[in-house]
Amino acid sequence: MVFLLCAFVSLSLCPFLGSERMIDLHTHSLFSDGALIPSELIRRFEAMGYLAVAITDHVDSSNLDHVVPSIVRVAEELNHAQSVKVIPGVELTHVPPVFIPSLVRRAREMGARLVVVHGETIAEPVAPGTNRAGIEAGADVIAHPGLIRPEEVKLAVSKGVFLEISARKGHSLTNGHVAKLATEVGARLVLNSDSHGPGDFMTEAFAAKVTQGAGLPLDSYQQLLSNSRLLLSGIGFPL
Ligand SMILES: [Zn+2]
Ligand SMILES: [Zn+2]
Repeated sequence: MVFLLCAFVSLSLCPFLGSERMIDLHTHSLFSDGALIPSELIRRFEAMGYLAVAITDHVDSSNLDHVVPSIVRVAEELNHAQSVKVIPGVELTHVPPVFIPSLVRRAREMGARLVVVHGETIAEPVAPGTNRAGIEAGADVIAHPGLIRPEEVKLAVSKGVFLEISARKGHSLTNGHVAKLATEVGARLVLNSDSHGPGDFMTEAFAAKVTQGAGLPLDSYQQLLSNSRLLLSGIGFPL
């Protein structure tokens, strides 16, 4: 079927050929600091052949109440009209660790299906304790967890929290550290773009290079993609 679909265009341009279609669980629209309105963001990912994309705009208690319903509404509409599965999410960003558990709960109550916590990247002064608070609160993903400690990685394993390998400039500086600890401890990794605009979207070739650059074996991108599928299946989006 895939071959037939592609035969009508050009085999070399067909987005469905090769390995599995891609997934990105961390992107931003102009509901926070992204460049695109959600419909354009998702249409551009669809045109690249993506299977699923989460919109995870930056939130704290000041904007959670209007960002989440808007993303939930547009995701529901787009999921009836487009081939890429849209997951409404949030990225709790620079929230003091003490407030992370209540905001994770509120985000879920309001309809966010994927809760990402903006982890302790070395590129920003994220409050110490953010990684641990996100893991303990049962976030789905700790994004760019920086110099995360071994005991926190072990906690992520026991809580079923995924850790992120980031393709974003600055945040990606500690990918090697995250990948090494995750491999030693058995934590699950996902690769995300943290896209803020079209120039950030990953091609499969770039995703494979970022994975390799993190020190993971050559074919690890497919494993990370499987982890993203596993995560989505766990939050009610079987693909
Ligand atoms: Zn972030
Ligand atoms: Zn982000």
